[in-house]
Amino acid sequence: MCGILGVFGNPSAARLTSLGLFAIQHRGQESCGMAVSDGKVIRLRKKMGLIKEVFTEAELDQLPGSIAIGHVRYPTKGSATEFNTQPHLVETLAGPTYALASNGDIVNYHAMRRFLEENNVYFKSDNDGELLVKYIAYQVMRQGDGIIEAIRHMMRDIKGAYSTVLCTRDALYMFRDPHSIRPMVWGKMQDGTVVVASESCALDTLGAIDRQEIPSAGIIKVSDEGIRVIENDPALYRSVPNPRHCIFEQIYFSRPDSYHFGEDVFRVREALGAALAKADPGLKADYVVPVPDSANFIGLGYSNEAKIPLSLGLIRNHYIGRTFIKPEQTIRDESVRQKFNLLPNFFKDKSVVLIDDSIVRGTTIRKIVELIKRAGVKEVHLRIGSPQVKYSCYYGIDTPSKEELIANRFDLEQIRERTGVDSLKFLEINDLRTCVQKPEDYCYACFNGDYPLGVAGD
Ligand code: SF4
Repeated sequence: MCGILGVFGNPSAARLTSLGLFAIQHRGQESCGMAVSDGKVIRLRKKMGLIKEVFTEAELDQLPGSIAIGHVRYPTKGSATEFNTQPHLVETLAGPTYALASNGDIVNYHAMRRFLEENNVYFKSDNDGELLVKYIAYQVMRQGDGIIEAIRHMMRDIKGAYSTVLCTRDALYMFRDPHSIRPMVWGKMQDGTVVVASESCALDTLGAIDRQEIPSAGIIKVSDEGIRVIENDPALYRSVPNPRHCIFEQIYFSRPDSYHFGEDVFRVREALGAALAKADPGLKADYVVPVPDSANFIGLGYSNEAKIPLSLGLIRNHYIGRTFIKPEQTIRDESVRQKFNLLPNFFKDKSVVLIDDSIVRGTTIRKIVELIKRAGVKEVHLRIGSPQVKYSCYYGIDTPSKEELIANRFDLEQIRERTGVDSLKFLEINDLRTCVQKPEDYCYACFNGDYPLGVAGD
């Protein structure tokens, strides 16, 4: 999962980009970067670390210009190194210079990279963003396409998820894959500055108005000549009749105050909770307790529907550094204890409905249940606001291999035993579909293995 941001037409473009990226820092904490154009030169800065650590005031002073793009990264493809950090820059002697940042994974990455390498294009990283920008530059320089035509060409040949911003010295381009798997919204500030981001919460932070989603396969060019919304090849639209938005953006990844895929994220989450409660008639408990923060609105929906009071019995420490979000198992185990604490004397002799958004490996929820049991809880009924995750994601989310997914290895009763709860239910996929306005427009592949774009190949 990653986050992107773009700004056009503001002398403080770097500062606005830093502010916007900070609002979507939850989408990636490993590294970040920014490319800023002053009309003559594109300057690039990228480093391992969080936005506020990397883009200090002194650093921002070194990035003059009115066009900027930025990125926060959580590694899905390619290791966590500065080389793989975005944006990626392509400089040419004869033609324009491009910088590009993207969110999503490319399914035919290896085949397309091989094609470019056979045509003497060289790579510095293993990152999808570099493939996109080099493919576009290749089409412009070797095939004589204009940038718009090169992006169209790229969309026909490269398959995968890509919500993307690209800047040249004098223009900002924003475009999105035909399935619009990852979110991407744009808008204008009062002074006319154009801003685009992975999530609308970043636009809110920047005070943008007129928020709109980038359409599927849409390309928008912003330059001194104005804003041009470019229609794509009709054959491309025909080949992709529906978008396939990532349902997990609604369940867990995005901030609850964001709006995308035509709906408010927090409302979808409340609906998930209500659907779970409807499948639970007659369950008696003293409290509904969500695992904070991602399950808060699912818990609220459950509580309202079941008429069982909500209580925030689990408290999350928001200030643990990224050390604790690193993917290694030992660090993850330790992080659960660092991340969650219980309200004192709350759980003793209580019966609770514990709500979480999903179970992936099962490690975190098992440790939370252990904590609650040590505090003397009477009964724990665990309810999960999504179906069982049985398949890996190939479209930009760092899910573990299939073998590590607890629901792929064990049946419901075995998962209940392993998590140590008195009862366990997951949301059924048909119930999940009732919680969004256009269920046919979503990808559910990590639950049912039905991959709209196939899986990553050689
Ligand atoms: S496989 Fe799962 S996580 Fe990946 S895009 Fe589809 S719904 Fe989202």
